[in-house]
Amino acid sequence: MSILVVGSVALDSVETPFGVRERVLGGSATYFATSASFFTDVNLVGVVGEDFPQEHTDFLTSRNIDLTGLSKVPGETFHWKGRYGYDLNEAQTLETHLNVFASFKPVIPEQYADAEYLILANIDPELQMEVLNQVKKPKVVACDTMNFWISSKPEALKKVISRVDFFIINEGEARQLSGEANLVRAARKILDMGVKNLIVKRGEYGVLMFNGATVFAAPAFPLEEVFDPTGAGDTFAGGFMGYLANTGNLTDEGVRQAVVFGSVMASFNVEAFSLDRLKTLSYPEIEARYRSFKRMTHFEGVSEL
Ligand code: AMP
Repeated sequence: MSILVVGSVALDSVETPFGVRERVLGGSATYFATSASFFTDVNLVGVVGEDFPQEHTDFLTSRNIDLTGLSKVPGETFHWKGRYGYDLNEAQTLETHLNVFASFKPVIPEQYADAEYLILANIDPELQMEVLNQVKKPKVVACDTMNFWISSKPEALKKVISRVDFFIINEGEARQLSGEANLVRAARKILDMGVKNLIVKRGEYGVLMFNGATVFAAPAFPLEEVFDPTGAGDTFAGGFMGYLANTGNLTDEGVRQAVVFGSVMASFNVEAFSLDRLKTLSYPEIEARYRSFKRMTHFEGVSEL
């Protein structure tokens, strides 16, 4: 089953302790779509400016991502500039230039209106709602956001998250949205806002998934080299939704497997700047890391317990 993603397509300038890159390919929808494309067909809706290099379009097309919904308009592409210190879990936003994104009104092409799997990647929650209203009967909807929207449009965001199946945010955002420092309490408050399933990304500490009845914890894959965490969250979400769309398995077990595939995809993405690692990645490598993940987290039950 194919996935529809709506989000940002960007040129990013990123600084980490391991290097600097200027105006490289980025954006929430870009990372998501590329990651999901290893599992299923992806349709992308977004906007770029006239400065968006053809090589990036060619790359996305080479991943079989349908770009019918990616419009190119006069002006400059969305540009985000961020910096990471040695604590790679927290990005410091230095500049956000919305550019062509400022007047972006997502129009879902007719052939995508029946999409069953939909991801509202990180964009203005008012736009996320407009998209949600244009997709007729989605089976699974996931949504991401960021601190920028939690502080500027909290009410619009709350309306969106009460209508999605999986709300995927990082731990700082969970604390900010709930006003709770403790993550378990934060999760309860967010579920009380009408969220069905909450996935909290904790960078190098992994992921926690809450649904009100059970909690699932997956570690991050331990890596010796992390160069650039930009896009890790979107890459996670791409692997997660891509796997769900591929298998259609929405049981507790299927969703847990999807969380691990998401974690595997994110672990590859952080190994290089921009989407460089995803550009060389192959499906057998993904499977091999999934198997390592399984061995790493497996332990036997104690018979008397
Ligand atoms: P992540 O590291 O997964 O949270 O996502 C990083 C990506 O989000 C970068 O490639 C940015 O281009 C994009 N981004 C940053 N700020 C915004 C924003 N305000 N709206 C949409 N996308 C953004």
